[in-house]
Amino acid sequence: MVNREKIVVLVDVDGTLASRYHGGVRKIRPSTLDALRALSEYAEVFLWSIAGSENGQRLLEEFPELEDYVSGSYGKRNFPKDKFDKVYCIDDEEIDEEVLSENHIILNDSYDGGEDNGLLLKAVKLIINWIVNDGV
Ligand SMILES: [Mg+2]
Repeated sequence: MVNREKIVVLVDVDGTLASRYHGGVRKIRPSTLDALRALSEYAEVFLWSIAGSENGQRLLEEFPELEDYVSGSYGKRNFPKDKFDKVYCIDDEEIDEEVLSENHIILNDSYDGGEDNGLLLKAVKLIINWIVNDGV
């Protein structure tokens, strides 16, 4: 039996869920809502960003429909990982030590608008498989 409260999935913002700002507006990967909803059935989901907690917070203000599936937003250096038994991450870049030191999936793609190539949902399926098969 999976104990949902002890499992967390940390999802990067820029390039993973959201495009850069173009003319003051950014887009989200079309599968973002489905991805966060699916993850939230198995884990607590937080946004995190090397740019700080404000970045994910702003994303939730821009796309309030995501709020139901996200527990909060952190800077990558500030997430309290020690409160969780299992930490999984999804990111678009193999850069941040905070990501690489946990179970992580790096999307082979940085989203910057346009169609969805399905990679985010693939990553979500893999992580759910890990969660279900690892237990805690
Ligand atoms: Mg990124």
